[in-house]
Amino acid sequence: MDIKVLITEQEIASRTRELAEQIQKDYNNEEIVIVCILKGATFFAVELAKRIESDTIIDFMKVSSYEGTESTGKINFTLDISEDITDKNVLIVEDIVDTGRTLAYVKKYLESKNPKNVKICTMLNKKERRVIDLNPEYVAFDIPDKFVIGYGLDYDEKFRNLPYVGYLE
Ligand code: 5GP
Repeated sequence: MDIKVLITEQEIASRTRELAEQIQKDYNNEEIVIVCILKGATFFAVELAKRIESDTIIDFMKVSSYEGTESTGKINFTLDISEDITDKNVLIVEDIVDTGRTLAYVKKYLESKNPKNVKICTMLNKKERRVIDLNPEYVAFDIPDKFVIGYGLDYDEKFRNLPYVGYLE
């Protein structure tokens, strides 16, 4: 398969550092609970968390809405967080926001657990595909409407380990 590079490893690394600095500043060095959305956000969440110097707790959720390259519109919720997030700063870390359905659902769910606040940090943002009004507070890269893979993102579970974000021609 012919894979074209969209965002290089170096570009991701430097943008992730910038975002981490901004996040730390915005939260005034308060503790943050990062909720990493499995499996796609793991690569980005790890790099982001490593650059945040304030106290950070890491938790995971698994929600899936995609099969192959087409959105089914169906959301499966398969793993819940294990931390108590009452009165905490919660930062959802996601690989990509497309229609916005997945994160709208996750955000609403986490907000029902009485946190101090819930914000969203996504590596990639496909703004033009949005069907739900959802604006992530932190976006590493706005990208065009292409099916992307790599740096956590899969195509039928493969290609997550590519060190860059690419797309299939
Ligand atoms: P949404 O609910 O915003 O439509 O979809 C979000 C989820 O769809 C992401 O977490 C991701 O799993 C999947 N997704 C959306 N666009 C892409 C893409 O271009 N490539 C891959 N690999 N997954 C995508």
